[in-house]
Amino acid sequence: MEFTKDIWVYMETDETGAAKNVSLELLNPGRMLADKQGGKLVAVVIGESVNEAVKAAGESGADQILVVEGPEYQEYSTDAYVTAMCHLIEKYGPAALIASATIQGRDLTPRVAAHFETGVVSDCTVLEADENGNILWTRPAYSGSLFETVVCAERRPQIGTVRPGSFKKPEAGENKAEVVKEAFHVATSDIRTKLLEVIQEAAGDIVDLEGADVIVSGGRGVGGAEGFAPLQTLADVLGGVVGASRAAVDAGWISNPHQVGQTGKTVAPKLYIACGISGAIQHLAGMSGSDCIVAINKDPDAPIFSIADYGIVGNLFEVLPLLTEEIKKLKS
Ligand code: FAD
Repeated sequence: MEFTKDIWVYMETDETGAAKNVSLELLNPGRMLADKQGGKLVAVVIGESVNEAVKAAGESGADQILVVEGPEYQEYSTDAYVTAMCHLIEKYGPAALIASATIQGRDLTPRVAAHFETGVVSDCTVLEADENGNILWTRPAYSGSLFETVVCAERRPQIGTVRPGSFKKPEAGENKAEVVKEAFHVATSDIRTKLLEVIQEAAGDIVDLEGADVIVSGGRGVGGAEGFAPLQTLADVLGGVVGASRAAVDAGWISNPHQVGQTGKTVAPKLYIACGISGAIQHLAGMSGSDCIVAINKDPDAPIFSIADYGIVGNLFEVLPLLTEEIKKLKS
């Protein structure tokens, strides 16, 4: 099989057929890798009705967009999506396939890799390339206490997943992408799973941590469910959302979708305010990519201060109301 120098990004879509931010942000490192290797940046969109995603990928810098559409792709299914992706790879031979380290990306990539007898580097946070066109996939290991760089030198395509929030979404610009529609169908009888029901999270549990510009997060220091109230007030004033450490989630003070960290969400907001969070390595793994980190903690030796841009040593229940009032004044 012949392989090109093209870099492919797998675009996840939501139920409206729009591209997810976790995929659009991959076009950023994808552009850099494609330019470095002299290949095309190609977005791969699979779904039922995906015009919005195709448009967004074009505006976000893709040179080409490969589109596979059909009713069998309405919902993500391992059989249909893996079969379609393997068909595309066999036909076009990309140098690399990059997907998000989401449930879909983690399901799709190993199966595609097994088909082509290549490997997957999962959960990367930094992508570079060497002079031979090999991608240098860097990923945190041992809960982020060290970073390893992995190269897939022998086999193609190189395949990897990237942690959501590791890169910024490109600014929307001129759309010069060539759209290639691939008529490829998978028989319903070849799809071995059937989606029976989608259960929505309870309204209070829906929180877009990954897309938020401002996150006010609480840990064990908030002391109970009611302790999150001043955090919510500040988040509302700043137009942000509330996050949490695992200690707060495990204590049942706030629901799991709010958890930030190694076993929660990876976030990269413009502003992350950590209140009563000590700064365990598993928490830092999920938020250290934030542009500006403010830590409020009564212990001056709390590890969170070592990565904070601004540190406030004090009781969060005294600091937060003062901070909220000052911000309100500034805003008015
Ligand atoms: P603590 O470490 O107990 O810190 C509480 C802090 O609050 C202290 O620093 C204290 O000084 C301060 N404080 C107390 N009262 C006040 C007050 N009134 N005002 C100001 N400050 C106050 N953790 C995560 O967060 N996310 C994860 O995804 C995650 N995944 C994990 C995965 C594994 C495999 C393991 C082993 C652990 C994981 N953890 C995760 C848990 C992690 O190791 C820590 O236990 C957890 O992050 C601690 O949460 P915390 O900082 O809220 O609590």
